[in-house]
Amino acid sequence: MSDYTKPLPYPNEVSQPFWDAAKRHELQIQHCNSCGTHIFYPREACSQCLSPDLIWIPVSGKGTLYSYTIAQAPTHPAFAEDVPYVIAIVELEEGPRITTNLVGCSPDHVTIGMPVMASFEEVTPEVTLVKFRPDQ
Ligand code: ZN
Repeated sequence: MSDYTKPLPYPNEVSQPFWDAAKRHELQIQHCNSCGTHIFYPREACSQCLSPDLIWIPVSGKGTLYSYTIAQAPTHPAFAEDVPYVIAIVELEEGPRITTNLVGCSPDHVTIGMPVMASFEEVTPEVTLVKFRPDQ
């Protein structure tokens, strides 16, 4: 039994490959074979052309900080010791944006457009979360 008390994701049939890749410390997103669009979050059909012909591909894990906010109050009791922490939207090199946490960086040093890269946090034996850290 894990002592991790924060909310955990509930992978489903569509999103399971994302979580399986994260467990291998690899970032994967979907790619549409019909129109070439890169897609995140996981879906059953392409967000641009509605094709169901999607595959999972590894991506670089590199991106830039598109937007962020600093949580000064915990949104769940389990996050009480983490404040202040950075809730971020990262734009991947491949295009899609991911809502995540920025770690390894004081909230005082966060700037829009800063280069970031994926970072993997094994929170339970079953779940690895994808977060981002500054890419120096
Ligand atoms: Zn498409």
